[in-house]
Amino acid sequence: MNKIINASFSNDLLIGVLALQGGVMEHKEAILSLGASAREVKRESDLEGLSGLIIPGGESTTIGKLLSIYSLSDPIKAKANAGMPVFGTCAGLITLAKNFKDNDDSILGLMDFVVLRNAFGRQVDSFEADIKVPVLGDDPYRAVFIRAPWIESVGDGTRVLATYKDDSYDCDRIVMVEQGSLLACAFHPELTDDFRIHRYFLDKARAWKESLSKKGEGQDEWSLEMVDDQAQEG
Ligand code: GLN
Repeated sequence: MNKIINASFSNDLLIGVLALQGGVMEHKEAILSLGASAREVKRESDLEGLSGLIIPGGESTTIGKLLSIYSLSDPIKAKANAGMPVFGTCAGLITLAKNFKDNDDSILGLMDFVVLRNAFGRQVDSFEADIKVPVLGDDPYRAVFIRAPWIESVGDGTRVLATYKDDSYDCDRIVMVEQGSLLACAFHPELTDDFRIHRYFLDKARAWKESLSKKGEGQDEWSLEMVDDQAQEG
């Protein structure tokens, strides 16, 4: 796949990649090849002006510890609660989970689902599989799983976007979900040249950026009117 043909966002769309641990570079490259801009996020001030944040794969316990050491958990939660799109991949998905199957140590706890860490790891450490992701169209998506979690169950507001057919148990495992502007997948979309999932996330980021600037414009009109009214009253 030709990466340049993929470019369709403007470079004033700024996406952060949490850069405490894990696969940061590949996500930055995916963002850049879609035409948007990328910034590594290591401290609270790096969150300012972002239209979205990606939490990469790596090791979720380490990412969780570093999030608290760098005092980033609360600022990220505040931004997400204000509507900023956040996308977690693999360990990033784990950091977003509200509930864990084997304990209750949620990290950011922003998305309503139950996760099982290293779920596929007991069968096979890493593998690739073609999965169907209907929101991306009909073409199958080649997903790279590395010591991946799966999602055991989702809450009412969480939509399942993709499953993987687990032949050993003859059932479907949930591997990609969204909840409003929040997105999570159990595999590594940054490790292929197929950037449809990044594009899907960047669409959310662009929509949020546009909604903010509309609100901003609305606010300006309102404050100008107020100034006018005050001037007439005075
Ligand atoms: N198994 C890792 C964890 O629990 C996730 C692996 C990954 O991000 N590739 O954090």
